Amino acid sequence: MVGLNYRNPYLSPYEEFQRYKTHPAIRAFLEGGKRLAYGARAITAGGLNSLPKFVFPGGCLVGCDAGFLNGSRIKGSHAAIKTGMLAAEAAFAALADGRSGDELVAYAEAFRASWLHDELYRARNFKPAMGKGLWLGTLLVGIDQVLFRGKAPFTLHTTKPDHEYLLPAAECQPIPYPKPDGTLSFDRLSSVFISNTNHEENQPIHLTLKDPAVPVAVNLARYAGPEQRYCPAGVYEFVRDDDGTERLQINAQNCVHCKTCDIKDPTQNIVWVAPEGGGGPNYSGM
Ligand SMILES: Cc1cc2nc3c(=O)[nH]c(=O)nc-3n(C[C@H](O)[C@H](O)[C@H](O)COP(=O)(O)OP(=O)(O)OC[C@H]3O[C@@H](n4cnc5c(N)ncnc54)[C@H](O)[C@@H]3O)c2cc1C
Ligand code: SF4
Repeated sequence: MVGLNYRNPYLSPYEEFQRYKTHPAIRAFLEGGKRLAYGARAITAGGLNSLPKFVFPGGCLVGCDAGFLNGSRIKGSHAAIKTGMLAAEAAFAALADGRSGDELVAYAEAFRASWLHDELYRARNFKPAMGKGLWLGTLLVGIDQVLFRGKAPFTLHTTKPDHEYLLPAAECQPIPYPKPDGTLSFDRLSSVFISNTNHEENQPIHLTLKDPAVPVAVNLARYAGPEQRYCPAGVYEFVRDDDGTERLQINAQNCVHCKTCDIKDPTQNIVWVAPEGGGGPNYSGM
């Protein structure tokens, strides 16, 4: 896992993972194995402090759509099931009363009274604490979890969005990643191939740009094109045309729907929209 509040625009989460697999402590577990599948996903880890209003007239958000994952355990299946159940019970009661366009206030109240709220409350300081760095973060988490058992008389907050953390490339060192060895580490495109990603041809591109000039004028000029590295599917490429001008090429058909670009783009110029036809990765081995 890579926190998307990283600063160095040269960092490549994909390459970090390839390098991690070759570490002597990890290598031993993987050697002799075979790469079977590939996928990537951004996790909504903000927890209780980051929950949006999750009920609205005629609808509601459940599971990771709202951000009910417990970031300290990286576990969200139980939260998705629980919030789905609470929402379904509230919806059933509303429909039985003949109410169909109301806000499901009963769902929000049931969540606040549930064991899930208690669990997320106890974990609320984990992400903001770890955002303060490994050593200070570990100390704060120790105080929060061991001393106060998650019930500290303070709540830490993260006020800066992940996309604001990137530093200009001129202030950072490029990161030299080793070439993939084809046994433990692999190139991105061969990995994307085994994610069985598919999008219908000729559909409107689902990775939209608010301003098509920004990628070259800002992202490339100031941040050395970080989308080339943070995208785990190689969707974004800066290419030079015959006349020497650079442009951003978006290979949208490769997108594995991780949503990193929507979160990390430094100017928030990339907007991920649902593609037509239910396309995307097909994690058949899961
Ligand atoms: C690498 C990784 C490891 C994890 N490990 C654990 C673990 O060990 N234990 C645990 O409890 N949790 C774990 N989690 C978290 C867990 O996977 C999530 O919290 C959980 O899956 C959330 O369930 P959900 O139903 O809310 O969302 P999802 O499981 O994300 O389901 C959403 C579904 O909606 C579909 N969808 C999206 N857009 C559209 C659209 N426009 N039209 C139709 N369908 C759409 C998606 O394809 C997807 O199938 C892990 C997550 C990751 C990424
Ligand atoms: S284009 Fe965006 S959502 Fe798709 S794989 Fe790349 S970073 Fe993830």
